Amino acid sequence: MKVVFVQDNGINESLILTELSAYLKAEGHQTALLLEFEEQNLEKAIEHENPDLIFIPSSVLAHHWTLYILRRLKKSFPDVPFVLAGSHPTFYPDILDFDEVDMILVGEVEQATAELLDALAGKRKLESIRNLHFKKGKTIKRNELRPLIEDLDSLPLPDRDLYFTRYPFTAQFPWKKFTSGRGCFHSCSYCYQPIYREMCKGKGQYVRRKSPARIVAEVRAMADKYPIGNAHFSDDLFITRLDWLREFADLYSHELNVPYSMNSSAEFVNEEAAVLLGRSGCRAVAIGIETYDEQLRYRILRKKISNDTIRRAAQLIRSYGMTLVTFNMVGSPHETVENALATMRFNAEIKTDYARVSVCFPIPKTKMATQAIEEGNCLDGYSGDIYAVKDITEEGGGVNFKTALADESRFLNLYHLFNVGVTYPSAIPLIEKLIELPPNKLFSMGSVLRMLKEKSVFRFSMSDGIKYFYHVGSPDKRATNFVSLV
Ligand code: SF4
Repeated sequence: MKVVFVQDNGINESLILTELSAYLKAEGHQTALLLEFEEQNLEKAIEHENPDLIFIPSSVLAHHWTLYILRRLKKSFPDVPFVLAGSHPTFYPDILDFDEVDMILVGEVEQATAELLDALAGKRKLESIRNLHFKKGKTIKRNELRPLIEDLDSLPLPDRDLYFTRYPFTAQFPWKKFTSGRGCFHSCSYCYQPIYREMCKGKGQYVRRKSPARIVAEVRAMADKYPIGNAHFSDDLFITRLDWLREFADLYSHELNVPYSMNSSAEFVNEEAAVLLGRSGCRAVAIGIETYDEQLRYRILRKKISNDTIRRAAQLIRSYGMTLVTFNMVGSPHETVENALATMRFNAEIKTDYARVSVCFPIPKTKMATQAIEEGNCLDGYSGDIYAVKDITEEGGGVNFKTALADESRFLNLYHLFNVGVTYPSAIPLIEKLIELPPNKLFSMGSVLRMLKEKSVFRFSMSDGIKYFYHVGSPDKRATNFVSLV
């Protein structure tokens, strides 16, 4: 049986699709991937592949594209079954209420997709496939959730050729993404991970790690075949246990000479972890700050990490020669502009090399969204209905809570100038004055500094960056990425 994955563009390259493709091939199936943005005639390309199943990965907030492509392709391929999978159908399984959606997969996809192919070949019934929701006549059947894959090492090595063979620009970019595990044990109010963790209760260990040997094998397989200047572990918690990190650091530095970067949480970055990271070739560590205001961080964002913990982690990361990247938000519920300015000053104080910043948005069904609706803090027109949320790939956007509305232009100006203040602290008094001006195009130029910072953190050349972004468009068009679900 043959599955064709149809995705929007290369910037949403999914590691889970590469893992799924490898799994299906090991089960004797064939796979292909088509990117709408890259295909002159997508329908013709699909026809050429002659699929038995068209699989559309759908991330949270990317449903506009998902529904658009589904409607379009169903007209040309009325006899081919389509399935949606990923974080959107997992958290919003009511997408099955749309007439054009016939089947969705929720949660992890490997075994369920293989079983779905068996069912399409007449070897089993749809009712027996856990994680599958489907329509039968006028009724919707929702099968139970299957146990999580506990041993991630049991999966075959990801099929990176899925992207790289048909779309060589994805292979030429020297910065390559990997995952070191699945799941997260934090409970940030703005994130959908805690909802998924709740859904998976009783389904096995939620936070799982690949073994160091497995990770080394994945990076080596990539390095043997494709250019790689930096391996980036894009899941949220690279460091969870020191014994794991000791083994990883030892093996990675002996077996590979590939610098790497990763995301962690500040509380895991202690002296020993920093030594191990620095020694094993880690170039950059990203940690979440979100806001300087500890009460806001604890009570609204539900991130239980103190400023002192962040200070200590930042100091260790820098003192062992690694680049410090931080995640920040402006315009969260009840945040004042003074709070947001303090977040910028805090980044300057800890000498952040690159501050990633976003305007806070209540993703429907998250704790933050529910609380904001209860408090009446959502903007008029926001009801918590995901389908009423505008397409995030469209230009424009403002603050998203009533408590930020009176200061909207100051928040947006600060969002654009944030990295200027972090990089040049002496400019902060001027920025405090500039944010009082009406929003203007000049401030938007702050995003150029953001791109330059990103370029220098991940150490790709200007020409690599231009080539890559020529294909994928603006990074702002990146869908939310939930690496453990497609
Ligand atoms: S934001 Fe990151 S750290 Fe927080 S719950 Fe989500 S995945 Fe975990």
